[in-house]
Amino acid sequence: MGRLQKILIPLLGLVLAFWFYSTRENFKPEMLKGKRVIVTGASTGIGEQIAYHLARMGSHILITARTEAKLQKVVERCLELGAASARYVSGTMEDMAFAQHVVREAEASLGGLDMLILNHVGASYFGFFDGDVEHVRKLLEINFLSYVAMTTSALPMLKESEGSIVVVSSMAGKVGFPFTVPYSATKFALDGFFSSLRQEFSIQSINVSITLCILGFIDTDRAVRAAAEVLRELPAPRDECALEILKGAALRRRELYYRYSSTRLPLLLRDCAAELLDYLVRSRYRLPGTPGT
Ligand code: NDP
Repeated sequence: MGRLQKILIPLLGLVLAFWFYSTRENFKPEMLKGKRVIVTGASTGIGEQIAYHLARMGSHILITARTEAKLQKVVERCLELGAASARYVSGTMEDMAFAQHVVREAEASLGGLDMLILNHVGASYFGFFDGDVEHVRKLLEINFLSYVAMTTSALPMLKESEGSIVVVSSMAGKVGFPFTVPYSATKFALDGFFSSLRQEFSIQSINVSITLCILGFIDTDRAVRAAAEVLRELPAPRDECALEILKGAALRRRELYYRYSSTRLPLLLRDCAAELLDYLVRSRYRLPGTPGT
């Protein structure tokens, strides 16, 4: 009987796991065809790649960032790639009135909204926390409060379309990271706000999905400039990252991990071996005086 149990229980686990994964819906590019999407921080980096994938899938795209000349080029490329429509609004997310203005633009030009992709990130430093409280406040406004402001303004349209909110976050928003203290604080804030909001949507039967994206090191110019020399790992490609974000969003996943091996797997240690996880995070950096630097 004991031996039978030893075989049957793992077998049952395997059957259940197979059933769970085989019944999950698969991503198809048509899922995003004709969808009306806002992408923030789309003048460069991951946001730019998200815009190009959406364009290939035939979405209506509204992009935003501060640099008008770059946005113009991204819009042109989106149209070449097959976007149903593409337009931009330029301005800074330090200004909450601008954040709300972008959403109103989507309403006026697209007549509604199916997906809000919050991706922009303000500039910060890479180094020990320097005690500059004003910088933390400013970064919270750009990386967190503007996300809240846009979500609040977009919610009536998203409820109407039963749409999706996509929040681009980081491993640094799930576990303490050295050298990016203000940035990490803003990413933790996103998790708190959007995970709590998801609970309320569930209680109120609001059919708007929230996908929190937990990213590792990605090969965007800014990230490579800031961290390539000090990190012991190779960055993952931004175009693949962008596609994974869109797949997670279309499938209405609650969280997306990219790359899985450098994000989800280490995070499994968080509750049972937090100090080991902290040590593994620190060991990713080439610090002066540590072996191999
Ligand atoms: P980039 O620095 O390459 O792009 C940032 C975008 O945000 C740009 O389009 C920039 O455009 C825009 N932006 C910056 N400041 C403002 C502002 N004040 N107002 C409006 N827009 C602004 O970032 P990534 O592509 O590397 O990162 C994208 C997302 O992915 C971020 O949320 C980031 O935290 C997350 N992430 C990235 C990782 C990586 O290794 N790259 C790792 C983990 C998470 P402009 O300057 O024209 O305004």
